[in-house]
Amino acid sequence: MSKLLKQNERGSLVVISGPSGSGKDTVVSKYLEGRKNAWLSISCTSRPMRPGDEEGVSYYFISKEEFEEKIKNDEFLEYAEYNGNYYGTPKKDIEDKLKNGIDVILVIEVQGALKIKSAFPEAICIFIMPPSMEELRNRLVGRKTETKDKIIQRFTTAYQEINEYTKYNYVVTNDLIENAVHKIDSILTSEKCRVDRIEEVYLDNSEEAIHELLMGEEFINEDIKI
Ligand code: 5GP
Repeated sequence: MSKLLKQNERGSLVVISGPSGSGKDTVVSKYLEGRKNAWLSISCTSRPMRPGDEEGVSYYFISKEEFEEKIKNDEFLEYAEYNGNYYGTPKKDIEDKLKNGIDVILVIEVQGALKIKSAFPEAICIFIMPPSMEELRNRLVGRKTETKDKIIQRFTTAYQEINEYTKYNYVVTNDLIENAVHKIDSILTSEKCRVDRIEEVYLDNSEEAIHELLMGEEFINEDIKI
């Protein structure tokens, strides 16, 4: 059977942001479970490791000096300074994944997301919203991994970040993880159906198609002649 459409099969560049405590990392890791057509980019950071962090899994942990060397060598797709530390998306591998039809997911903060949006207007930017500020507070305090000062800093930054949601293409409220994962799946599925992904339509003129596809068929319900 010959195909009717040729579509752009390139992977999508997907940016996911949200304040600390929005649950974006959990939503993304659930979304990625068992999915072969999506790849999570691992960032570099100069922030110290926290309990539960794993080298090469959470981040590549490098020194400030090493980070600045990589900036000089143009090794980042984007980078930003956030709460006094550097965070950056390594360029390496991204183009290869996209070319092979794999969606590349970047979980990054707002400044980085805006840089990606202006450099790659086709990027799909999703903001993960906490269901309420009370819930955000509970999640930040409940982690028990940081000092009071750090938590206050994260909470203040969260307020500023939430105000930036209008710069994204989609907002997903993380009330229940399964709901949020389902919404991300739906967004990415719909994006693949966009008309501007169609590169060619193999549609003969209708007379030729009628001749080729219908002539010679026996139809049972011929028009009844009176
Ligand atoms: P955390 O210190 O909590 O791991 O991360 C702080 C913030 O930096 C989070 O919002 C996280 O998504 C963001 N982040 C992680 N990697 C990158 C990156 O490569 N670039 C940018 N711009 N932000 C990042």
